Amino acid sequence: MSKLDRREFGQLVGGVGLTAASSILFGNMVIAKGAAKVVVIGGGAGGASVARILKSEDAQLDVTLIETHPIYTTCFNSNHYLGGFRTFASLCHSYDGLRKLGVNVVIDTASDIDAAKKTVTLKSGGAFKYDRLVLSPGIGFKFDTIEGYSPAAAQIMPHAWTAGAQTLLLMQQLEAMDDGGVVIMTVPGNPYRCPPGPYERACMIAHFLKTKKPKSKLVIFDAKRTFSKQAAFEEAFRTYYDDIIDLNLTNEIDDFRAVKVDTQTMEVVTEAGIRIKANVANIILAQKAGDLAHKVGCTDGDWCPVDPVRFTSTKLEDVYVLGDSSIAVEMPKSAFSANSQAKVVAADILADLSGAKRFPPRFRNTCWSLLAAADSIKIGASYRPAEKDGKTLLAASGGFVSQRSESAEVRKQNYLESIAWYHAIILDAFNERARGTPKG
Ligand SMILES: Cc1cc2nc3c(=O)[nH]c(=O)nc-3n(C[C@H](O)[C@H](O)[C@H](O)COP(=O)(O)OP(=O)(O)OC[C@H]3O[C@@H](n4cnc5c(N)ncnc54)[C@H](O)[C@@H]3O)c2cc1C
Repeated sequence: MSKLDRREFGQLVGGVGLTAASSILFGNMVIAKGAAKVVVIGGGAGGASVARILKSEDAQLDVTLIETHPIYTTCFNSNHYLGGFRTFASLCHSYDGLRKLGVNVVIDTASDIDAAKKTVTLKSGGAFKYDRLVLSPGIGFKFDTIEGYSPAAAQIMPHAWTAGAQTLLLMQQLEAMDDGGVVIMTVPGNPYRCPPGPYERACMIAHFLKTKKPKSKLVIFDAKRTFSKQAAFEEAFRTYYDDIIDLNLTNEIDDFRAVKVDTQTMEVVTEAGIRIKANVANIILAQKAGDLAHKVGCTDGDWCPVDPVRFTSTKLEDVYVLGDSSIAVEMPKSAFSANSQAKVVAADILADLSGAKRFPPRFRNTCWSLLAAADSIKIGASYRPAEKDGKTLLAASGGFVSQRSESAEVRKQNYLESIAWYHAIILDAFNERARGTPKG
């Protein structure tokens, strides 16, 4: 660590797939409390990455990962499955790679946290003590923002914004729909998981319809006026899917926010009073931090505030919050962000336990979106702590975004990069090689 300057540290924590590099980073550290207990709640992009890094860097550390589901299905690249560009199985990952490293993987749901006693309680009844706790429970849904929508309604009108059964349900409904059917997709206001995700999904559903049910339509009701990578997405809608996609962005006259659904009649109603009947309704609704974060008092409004330098909760002592549940100014909610934050959190825990010096972190994000076969666009930036109005915030720098009319070669390179990134993050988070070669 002492051999690295601040710039090098920032570069190391910013990227993905840096197992070898991070060994150098932490290799010289002496962890004073070798058997310190770290409990991680949530085995997704953020939590699995923290658990993997901590155990790889200090085999003596007692790392427990509590996760509800035995298999993690990635939301990232799940749109590719809807478009027919990859299999569902290729999105599914086990925790065996983490078990092999010595992480204690507990398949259960964390039901409560006692921050004073430093204890996590499980739904099944057991409990774990911790010295440091990491919360990465992903998102919860604001069901009360759409009248008639509920967890039960999501079984008829899937959101598919957590991957797994919801993704399969949406695909089954698309496959069962007659040619000439209407698919409705609703999109919430900011902030939500994966800002460009709904528009990539629009391309992938439209690609499915174009190739399998060309007389069908996809109607999008969006609560926003503008969105991520908009110019390039709108060009793709016109170039590839002009007869299929009907994009309705909220404007001065009409508010296209979805306010009501009826699962009997399959109608979706907007704030402006437009009422349309769907054959398939994909209700992407407003989101908030995972339910546990609200229950244990880690939230302020919808999300969990954190110190942007360390990602420690500003609400609970010795608790870190990362990934989608946390709110880090200007940093989008993505798997890339969660993994980048995990590197900072792991470094901070190791420094904290060993009393080593901390260095200013730098975070990074890139989000790729597939428009059609081998045609991907991207957006990204670096983030570092900066002083603004007497407060430390995470500020973006070095941002880039795909433009309209880029060459097919540039877009193909983006696609190949996105596939390489998927393999890298799966290895980095789950200590497992991603299976299956995507088509296209
Ligand atoms: C359609 C779509 C496409 C996307 N595409 C991309 C992309 O291309 N690139 C990108 O970077 N990001 C993408 N994302 C975003 C990405 O999936 C999320 O930002 C990322 O998964 C966030 O990681 P996380 O650890 O915060 O949450 P998650 O990955 O959701 O993990 C949270 C985990 O916590 C578990 N959990 C919750 N509560 C408890 C509890 N009480 N006890 C035990 N376990 C619990 C859950 O079961 C879950 O496994 C996409 C998202 C969607 C919906």
